[in-house]
Parts: sequence; C-alpha cells; structure tokens
Amino acid sequence: MSKESKIAISLCNCAKTLHSKLNFKQIKKSLVERSDTSCLVKEYDVLCTGDDLSFLVSEVKDKGIEKVIIGACSPKLYEELFKSKLRQSGINKNLIAICNIREQCAWVFDNSATATKRALSLIKGAVEKIKKSQPILEDEILPHQEVLIIGGGIGGIQTGVELKKSGIKATIVERKKELGGNTKKLNSFYQSKIPPHEFIEKKLKEIKGEDGTEILTEAEILSLKGSCGDFRARIKINNNITEKRFGAVVVATGFETHFSEDSYNLKLNEKVITQLELERILQNQEEADRIFGRGEDIKVLFITGMTKRFSKLSTGTALKNSLLLREKYNNKVFIACRNVIVAGEGLESLYGKIRDEGVIIFKFEDKKPQFSLKGNQIFTLIYDYYLSSQASQELLNPVIKIPCDILVLEEELIPSTGHEGLKTILGIDFDPLNFFQENNVHYFPVESNRKGIFFVGSCRGIEEVSDVIADAKSASVEIFELLKGKIKFPKERIIVDKGKCTLCLTCQRLCPHSAITYTRSAEISEITCQACGVCVSECPNSAITLRTFTDEDIIAEIEGYVL
Ligand SMILES: Cc1cc2nc3c(=O)[nH]c(=O)nc-3n(C[C@H](O)[C@H](O)[C@H](O)COP(=O)(O)OP(=O)(O)OC[C@H]3O[C@@H](n4cnc5c(N)ncnc54)[C@H](O)[C@@H]3O)c2cc1C
Ligand code: SF4
Ligand code: SF4
Repeated sequence: MSKESKIAISLCNCAKTLHSKLNFKQIKKSLVERSDTSCLVKEYDVLCTGDDLSFLVSEVKDKGIEKVIIGACSPKLYEELFKSKLRQSGINKNLIAICNIREQCAWVFDNSATATKRALSLIKGAVEKIKKSQPILEDEILPHQEVLIIGGGIGGIQTGVELKKSGIKATIVERKKELGGNTKKLNSFYQSKIPPHEFIEKKLKEIKGEDGTEILTEAEILSLKGSCGDFRARIKINNNITEKRFGAVVVATGFETHFSEDSYNLKLNEKVITQLELERILQNQEEADRIFGRGEDIKVLFITGMTKRFSKLSTGTALKNSLLLREKYNNKVFIACRNVIVAGEGLESLYGKIRDEGVIIFKFEDKKPQFSLKGNQIFTLIYDYYLSSQASQELLNPVIKIPCDILVLEEELIPSTGHEGLKTILGIDFDPLNFFQENNVHYFPVESNRKGIFFVGSCRGIEEVSDVIADAKSASVEIFELLKGKIKFPKERIIVDKGKCTLCLTCQRLCPHSAITYTRSAEISEITCQACGVCVSECPNSAITLRTFTDEDIIAEIEGYVL
C-alpha cells in the first residue's frame, strides 16, 4: 500500500462513559499532530449502533479511506459487526484494526493520565501496523450437498432426520449389521414410556423414502482426504471399497460398555449381571419370568458408583428397573450407591416412586461394598454412610449385610472400539478421557477442531438420549448454514516458502486444526486454517508467513507503542 494511504481513526466514547477516564481531546490532538500519516481522527458516541456506524461507513466511502482503526470496546464484542459493516464500503477485512481502549485502558486504570497514555500508545501501535498491512482477498468454493454420518445409533439417525428436513442428503456409515446402537439394546427409557426399539423404528421410517438417507451397514471409513465442503471418503462395505464426496462429516460413534472384574473383584454369571444384560433379559418375557418370577423370594441388589465414571445414566437405569421389578414381579429390591444422581429428565419423580414402592437405598462412600458367595446366595457387605456418621455416638454397627439372588452391576462406559483409528483418519482430537474433544465445550460443543467435521451424541462424552437429539439438531443447523451457499475463505493469508521448508513436519504435528498436509513441502489448506499462528512460530526454518501477522507488522506495532 502506498504511503498516501488514508487512515480513519474512529474513537468511541461508549455513550460518553469513557470521558471520565480518557482525555479524547488529547488523544485526537496527538494523533493529528503525527506528521507522517494522513489520518482522519473522529470521535463517536455509540459506534456499535446503527447511526454512528452507518455514518462511518458512508464517510469511508465518500472520503476514499483505505484503512480504518476503531478505538472502542473489546473486539470480542463487536469486531465482526464492525468488519462486516465496513466491508459494505469496499474496505478489505485485513485493513481494519480494533483497539480495545475501554476494557484495556479506561476500565483498568484509576488514573486518567495513565489510561489516556495507554490508549494513545495502543492506537499508535495500530497505526504503524496497519500502514504495513496488505489486503487479503477471498476465494470461494461450492460445497458438496451431501453429509457423511459415521455411526448409526440414535445420534446418527436423528442427524439424518434433521438433515432430511433441511433438504440435505446424508449417508450413514454403520459398522454393525443394523442401526440403533446402544438405544436399541434398551428395554425402556427412564424418561419416557415409548419402548426404545419402537422409538428407533419410528426414526428410521423418517429417514427412509424418496431422497432419504443412504444407509451403509457393515461399513467403515478407510480414509478421509480434502477439506470442508469437499471431503473425499474411502468407505469399505463388506469387502468392496467405494469413494464418495461430502461437504461435511458428522461423527456419531457413541460409546461401548465394559465390565471390569477388577472394580468388583467378581466374575459375571447368571446371578451377577450388568445393567445392559438386565435390559436384554427384560426384553425377553420368558427369560425374565424364569429369573424374576418368584415374587418376594427373589432379592435383587443394584450397585452403582463403583466404576471410574458413574453418571445419572446408571442411577436412572437402576431406578427405572427397580421400579419395574417391584411393580411387575414384586421382588425385594435394594440399591447400594455412592450417590443418587437425579439431575435428569424425570429422575426426581422416579426416585420418589421407588421409595413409595419400598425399594431400599443404601449409600456408601470410600469403603466399597464387599461381596461373598454362600450356597446360592450372594452376600454384600456395605459400610453405610449414614449409620457410620452416627455409629460412634449410638453404638450402631455401620456394616450392613445384604443377601441377594441377583446382583446388578454398572459397567464402565468407554469410547467405541476403533476410535483411535478414526481420530487419525479424521484429524480430530481426544479429551483427557479419550472421548472426542469439542472445539469449545461452551460455545461450539458440536464442532470439532477441524472445520466441517461435527460431533453428535455420546462420542463426545456419555449423554442421555434427549441430549443426543439436541446435539443432532444443533449440528444440522450448523451444517445447513455451512452448505447453503458458497463457502468463502481467505486467499493466500498463509504462505509456505517451499525453498525454506525442509519437510521436518513440525508444523503438521502441531497444527491444532489439522490444516497441514505435505507433498514436497508442507501444504496448508486455506479453508481449514484458522490463522492461530502456531505453525508460524514453531517452524524452525521460518518458512511460514501469516500475512495478517507478519514479523514486520509486529515490529512496527511495537515501535508504534513506544514512540
Ligand atoms: C444400561 C444403559 C441404560 C440406559 N438407559 C437410558 C435411558 O433410560 N434413557 C436415556 O436417555 N439413555 C439411556 N442410556 C443411554 C443411551 O443408550 C445413549 O444416550 C445413546 O445410546 C447414545 O446414542 P449415540 O448415537 O450417541 O451412541 P450409540 O448408541 O453408542 O451409537 C453409536 C453407533 O455408532 C457405531 N459405530 C461406532 N464406531 C463406529 C465406526 N468407527 N464406524 C461406524 N460405526 C461406528 C456403533 O456400532 C453404534 O451403532 C442407557 C445406556 C446404558 C448403557
Ligand atoms: S515446520 Fe517449517 S520446515 Fe518443517 S515442514 Fe513445516 S514449513 Fe516445512
Ligand atoms: S496458522 Fe498454522 S497451525 Fe494455525 S491453523 Fe493455520 S496452519 Fe494450523
């Protein structure tokens, strides 16, 4: 950009509230006095509202301004608004800088002189930097209008339903023979009366039919190339391999259960069963009648809270099934738990119901229950938490011995087998528990670290069905927004100097967004790169330049602060 670049410096006094801390007159005077720039300095009252911002936009147009610096509140609040409005005047996004003179100056210094000095140096730094900034142009692609869904549990199916409603075609790749995942293995839901298999069948009807979701069973993903809007997946179906193109990918691979003998020091058998095994038995009337059909003679004990990560799911399952065993078979039912977790839909009232039905609940803490076998009965010793707190005063024995015929144990809920392979194929991250890691747990919970790849359901941590459905809806809205028009992305914002790159692959290993591949030198996907700058700072040969933050820009900005 030539020396004569016209720069507008627009200062916002935030409805005059910053006047008590910032001396706007002094700031304006100092900036205008700087002889080496043709700066147009102006103060506004509320730059984030329509009138002031529209005025600025028209002034930029009328006066041929080429670069704009806004001194206002945190860029977190209005950077996008300012930039999108200013673009209407034809100004390039990279030629707009925001200085935070409110949170970083007016709000943090008691002394007005210090706050003013700080604001002035921030703006001077921005002036020096923007003088060096170059426009970054945009490129665009037309995304493929089909979505790949990996995993055909309720998460994958519901995503298919939602995408179909939005007119987007999807392909579900499920590695088992049929869809339904863990939901299909359940006998009942604790929060609803609809039987799980009927619920799944109903959803499957919704995705079938004309323009319906393509379903590939006994299938798996072998590789995924390309980037957001244009992914190319190799899929193995039985022994055939096919290649398909997709605009976006949804990972809905859920979880698996694992019974850990070490947690209980017990082996599974007909009398010692897991919660999921009980769900299976209860779906088989004959088998359930045989096991539980002797009324009060049958004593059933549920244990929850002995696995590494027990949750409301295991409490909910123990509650719903203890009620069923009381109501249907009149069994004697006990629950021994570390905690009754009822923070879920319908769980609080279910807890009340089982108490009314006579289910007895014990709570243990650090001393875990001990199990022993005598004849046909299993004896469980529980160090009761409430009795133990009174024991010393009232000479009570806090250890309770419960005889039972059937012991129902909660299993560990762990990531699905093969998730490490999928992580590598898709270039996505794990959380510390080896489930898939959301891009931001609060703001972008269904987005992955890689643009165009989304998470739905228990693959990102154990969820109940209503949460899985909410995920499917959010991901589908995001996908609709992504695929509805052309995908725009900055062109030549990041550049690899092929002459300098020695292919050490440091950048590829470190890129948090899986944007880097390589052939003869590192290659960066412009659509995937989020401009975080990690590769730029780590490349041992300084082969990568991020044009929004070049070394020259940063040195100029620092010089501007201190001059
Ligand atoms: C004992 C028990 C009782 C429960 N009771 C309730 C209840 O009452 N109410 C409630 O709301 N929730 C309950 N749940 C939880 C419920 O099962 C889950 O919320 C639900 O199954 C999660 O759905 P999902 O689609 O995320 O995962 P899943 O159901 O696990 O489905 C994932 C699918 O992905 C497939 N898959 C995995 N990896 C791959 C791969 N690499 N390629 C292709 N396909 C793959 C799997 O085969 C599976 O079909 C219970 C869970 C358990 C264990
Ligand atoms: S870190 Fe630098 S030298 Fe190493 S592969 Fe990446 S660009 Fe090339
Ligand atoms: S700047 Fe580098 S490390 Fe960051 S997302 Fe882009 S390519 Fe990856």
